[in-house]
Formats: sequence, structure tokens, C-alpha cells
Amino acid sequence: MPYSIAIDGPAGAGKSTIAKALAKSLGYYYVDTGALYRGLAFGLLQKGVPFQNEKAVEEEIKGIHVELLYENGVQKVLCNGVDCSAFIRTSEIGEGASVISQYASVREKLLDLQRNVARQHSCVMDGRDIGSVVLPDANKKFFLTASPEVRARRRTLEFQQKGESANYESVLEEVKKRDERDMSRAVAPLKQVEDAVLIDSSDLNIEEVVDKMLAYCVGSEA
Ligand code: C5P
Repeated sequence: MPYSIAIDGPAGAGKSTIAKALAKSLGYYYVDTGALYRGLAFGLLQKGVPFQNEKAVEEEIKGIHVELLYENGVQKVLCNGVDCSAFIRTSEIGEGASVISQYASVREKLLDLQRNVARQHSCVMDGRDIGSVVLPDANKKFFLTASPEVRARRRTLEFQQKGESANYESVLEEVKKRDERDMSRAVAPLKQVEDAVLIDSSDLNIEEVVDKMLAYCVGSEA
């Protein structure tokens, strides 16, 4: 029986870095569900569909097929058969993913895809609704957060390291806007479920967070 670990939390809390490191130390698959929302946003952008137009998005995603592929343990996102992993990390796609993830049609389209990976492989899956909706029976659940200021600082650095221009104040604004949207949407909002362990990474480095999580997993078959 595959073992599953769910990590939810707001943008910039360090979920992907930490989930990846945790998966590596356990020998599990790392499933970045945000990449699926970004893959769909990528497909919509290519077709010129405005993210804010829910009806058009609902219609157009019927013709967009996203899937996850694993090569040597590394996740790739395919959009209509083409690997788009290298193009989905821009702020434009991130913003688009955040907007379209509010739509029920989008969340529904991606639900089984996520569940199927967990059915087949032991995994660490990160997102916003993994512990609440996608894998309510996950073996371990974590809610990873950090203050908006710390998250904005991390994001700004990330963009700058990739050579994208980024200004702390506008990134902070974006982080707060995204939090608001993720937490207030009607379908599968971001929230800490009762059985999730809360970890605030504001004053912890990656290794410290991973060690904390591993300590919670010890003795429970992980
Ligand atoms: O985690 P990442 O920033 O890549 O996710 C992009 C967007 O997709 C997020 O801002 C969030 O709104 C949405 N998302 C979601 N549910 C998930 C994963 C991501 O709503 N499970």
C-alpha cells in the first residue's frame, strides 16, 4: 500500500523545496500539484484565453490535456503532449494558475490525475487542498506556513536568481493577494485541516523543517 504525505500551505512557504527534500530522503515521488494548475494556465495562455473569463476557461480546458511524467524521479508537466516544465515558473503563469484554480471545472479536471499518482506510488504531495480534498486519508499531513514578509522576501530572491526583475514591495502585494484568493475561494479553499501538523518556517531553514517532518513520520511506516 503506497504511503502518502500531504503538505499544504500558502505561496512561498517553501513547500516545493521541502517536499522535494523530504521525498528524496524517503525515496518517494515528489508531486508538485501547483505545476498542474500552471500547466493548464500555460495551455490557456497559448490559446489566448483570458484567465478571468470563467466560461471561456471552462470550455477551453476541455481541449487541453495536462499530465505528469516522471523521469529518474523528476517530475515533468506535459501540456497536450509537450513538456512545458521550463515555461511555467514565470509570475504571469503563477498569477494565471492562481486565478483559474478558483474555478470548479479546473479543480475537478485535475483531481483524479493527482489521486492516481498517490494510488500508484508512495509520495509527498504539495498544494493547497491535498490534506482536505485530494488525499483526505493521507498517512501524514502538514500545513507549512511563514509570514507574508518572509515569503515575499524568498520569492523576490527566487525571481532575481532566475534573472527576472522583481521588486519586494510588489511581490509582497502579490503574495497577500494570492493568499486572499486561495483562502476565500468557494471550492477547496486553502485551510489547515484538523489532523495536519502546523509548521511555521519563518525562522527555520530547509534542513530544520525536513528534520521536523521526518521526526513526525518516524514510527508510522514512512
Ligand atoms: O504552488 P504554486 O505556486 O506552483 O501554485 C500555483 C497556483 O495554483 C497557486 O497560487 C494556487 O492558487 C493554485 N493551486 C491550487 N491548488 C493546489 C496547487 C496549486 O489551488 N493543489
